[in-house]
Amino acid sequence: MNNKNKVILSFIGVFASVALLVISTILAENEVISAALAVVLTIISIISVFVAIFYAAKVDYETGVYECRNCGHTFKPTFKAYILAVHTLTTRCLKCPECGKSTRCKRRNAEKGE
Ligand SMILES: [Zn+2]
Repeated sequence: MNNKNKVILSFIGVFASVALLVISTILAENEVISAALAVVLTIISIISVFVAIFYAAKVDYETGVYECRNCGHTFKPTFKAYILAVHTLTTRCLKCPECGKSTRCKRRNAEKGE
């Protein structure tokens, strides 16, 4: 599976989980399903939303490298640094392993596929 497919798959996962949450809420409100079943479905869908988001983050982490604004060095941060870093869609505040400065590093797609 290539990276693009993984990103699409994780988005489908998020949408499917949210859809399950909405559907179970509607069914419970209309008393189609019991309250207990609605709670179970809600818990399942919340867990799957978190799993899908985590998977999306993991795919984004695995497919990206970051370029230091100070020295231009391209590096891959640790997963912990990646998760905790303040970020936008295309930049992330990371500490460069080369020059040691924390800059708004630009995201680049990693060269290797799998
Ligand atoms: Zn640097």
